[in-house]
Parts: sequence; structure tokens; C-alpha cells
Amino acid sequence: MLQSIKEKFESLYGEGGVAYASAGRINLIGEHTDYNGGYVFPGAIDKGITAVIKLNGTDKVNAYSLDYNEAVSFGLEEADAPAQSWARYIFGVCRETIKRGGKVAGFDAVFAGDVPLGAGLSSSAALESCFAYAINDLNNNNIDKFELARIGQSTEHNYCGVKCGIMDQFASCFGQKGSLIRLNCKTMEYKYFPFNPEGYKLVLVDSCVKHELASSAYNKRRESCENAAAAIKKNHPEIEFLSDCNRLWLDEVRGEIPQEDFLRAEYVIGEVQRVLDVCDALERGDYETVGELMYQTHFGLSRLYEVSCEELDFLNKLARKMDVTGSRVMGGGFGGCTINLVKEDLYQNFVDTAKAEFAARFGHEPKIYDVVISDGARKL
Ligand code: ADP
Ligand code: MG
Repeated sequence: MLQSIKEKFESLYGEGGVAYASAGRINLIGEHTDYNGGYVFPGAIDKGITAVIKLNGTDKVNAYSLDYNEAVSFGLEEADAPAQSWARYIFGVCRETIKRGGKVAGFDAVFAGDVPLGAGLSSSAALESCFAYAINDLNNNNIDKFELARIGQSTEHNYCGVKCGIMDQFASCFGQKGSLIRLNCKTMEYKYFPFNPEGYKLVLVDSCVKHELASSAYNKRRESCENAAAAIKKNHPEIEFLSDCNRLWLDEVRGEIPQEDFLRAEYVIGEVQRVLDVCDALERGDYETVGELMYQTHFGLSRLYEVSCEELDFLNKLARKMDVTGSRVMGGGFGGCTINLVKEDLYQNFVDTAKAEFAARFGHEPKIYDVVISDGARKL
């Protein structure tokens, strides 16, 4: 990829471009915990965005997307973001950097990527953090990595209409090869844990379905969690989020809240603990326990939190039947991928069977993405 980006850069803008890269991400465990002040556990992957960039001595940005075969130019003082969606990310990152007191000199850039779009691997965060990192470096702004992640998040909020949390950009900026990062979404404290599953592969099976329910259901889930937390708070005023609660405290209010809210809260409280348990297991190198906890998460998301769907439950059940070590729906739910921890000698059989059986049942093949935990934003 880098070679073709370099060639294009030289043909458009000449010599002297500097290469930067960033990554998409997975989240091993810790789903629907972020807005409950709990933990997420993401890592950067070996699929990302690569850009070659050079300051051009003007106040204009000229960017070329190799994947879209399209060029866009914009002035750094212009009020209106470009029409092309990919260019809005770059425009937004420039503006958000300036907003934070950073300098942004005009530049030329050619970039390309290999994160599948809209598959739940956050190609947009990869794009944002690549440019946020590069602009920071080229202008010697010394903005810290957490703020670079915030620049990406604010870009989504203010220029792309996506009110996302911080996890994707955080993982994309902080990712390190062979490590997952446990992020406390309440305090923003984070810690690296070793993830070197020798003899196993991480593989995503993309159902390629997206059910309509997603956004209204998401809001309802949030409401249920807030209701449960508010009820518990009456007995335990010190709590702020559902993640501060334990199972006993939830049981105390069982009769006071709707059954549905109880089940949602039961899932969240269990999930926060599972992230901690996975971290313990990783420190022991115990990938079988990690896998078992992934299945427990899937059960919770499907039966307690009720954000799975027929296609994802099908893939999860198939994984279990085939003795795959761990499997769960990844992301908000109602479609998208399952993330699977699979022994290497089972891998090919699992992938072939998942493709065939899923296609026989649902009429189309799922897509398969192998991922390796890798470095996040960096200069090449
Ligand atoms: P995802 O879940 O992958 O982040 P989004 O819809 O948030 O999906 O972001 C996808 C958008 O990010 C694309 O429509 C495009 O504008 C931009 N993007 C991602 N990867 C690339 C790429 N390789 N080249 C150009 N634009 C990209
Ligand atoms: Mg995105």
C-alpha cells in the first residue's frame, strides 16, 4: 500500500512526503459499558490508514484519496466543510486541532486504507487519528495522545454527525502491538494488558446485516440503565453510574424497577466484572478462560440486554458447536460482526463452515476478517 501511495504522491506533489499510519480497532470485551461508566477493552489492528504528507507552504490543504480516486482542496480558514465525506474527516481534524491552539500549516496528502468501511472496525477513527497524529507531528504542536483522540471524536461530533464515545479514537491513537488496553470510561484511566494468543487467531465474521432497530433500541437501553442506577442510588447515594453497583445492590431494587430494566442492569454489572476477569486471565496467559467469558458476554447481550439478532446468534451457536474458544457479537448489536478467538488448527474449518452454513440459512456469505493486534497512530 505504501508504495502506491508514495508513487501517487510524487506524481501529484513531488518529492519529500513523510509517511504516517494508523489503525482500526477491535474491542475484545466490554460492550455497552462505556455509557455506564464501565470498562472497555480495545486494541488497534493490522488494518488501517496510511498517508504520505508534506507541508506545502500555503494555507491550503490538498488531499487525494487513492481508494476513491478523488482529490479535494480546502482552505484552512474556510467556513464550510467539503462535500465529500472522506474529506470532512480531514477538514474536521484540522479545525479541531486549531480549536485546541494547535498550528496547522497547509499540506499535500495522499492516503489509502484497508479497514473495511462500516464493518464495525472504525475506519473513520483510523482516518482521523492518522491525520491528527501527522498534523501534530509536522507542526510540532506537542498535543498529547489523549487530546489527539479527542480531536478525532470531536471531528465525528461536529463534522460527521456521529455522537460517538472515545473508545475508537483512543484505541487507534494508543494501540500497541501485542497489547489490549483497558479503558475506564468514567475516569479515563487506562492500562495495557498482554495479548499474544499464540496458537490462536482472532477472526471477525461479518454478518453483513444491519437491522433498523439499532438507534432507537440504543436509546432505550441507555434509559433502562439510568433507571436502574437511579433506583440503586436511593439506597447507595455514593454511586454515579451503573458500573459502580454490584449485584447485591441491584437485587435490593428488583421489585422497584421494571423486569426489563433489571435484566439490562444485570448484563451491565456482569459485563464490567467480565472485563476484569479477562484481564486477570490474560495476565496468566489463559486464553481458554478469555474465550469462555466472551461466550458469557454473548449470552448476556442476546438474552439479557437483547441487542443480538438471528444472524449473530446463529454465528455464535455455530462457533460453540465447532469448539471455537470464544465468540461474541462485537459492537452495538442488531447486526455487524462476531469476534472469534479460534485455535489455528480449527480456523480453516470454522471459516469454511461459517460461510457455507450462514449462506445456506440467510442467502448470502458472511465476510471474514483476520485481525492481529498491532500498533496505532505512528510515523513510519
Ligand atoms: P466505520 O464503522 O468503518 O468507522 P464510518 O461510516 O464511521 O464507518 O466511516 C466510514 C467513512 O470513513 C467512509 O465513508 C469514508 O468517508 C471514511 N474512510 C474510511 N476509510 C477510508 C479510506 N480508506 N479512504 C477514504 N475514506 C475512508
Ligand atoms: Mg466510524
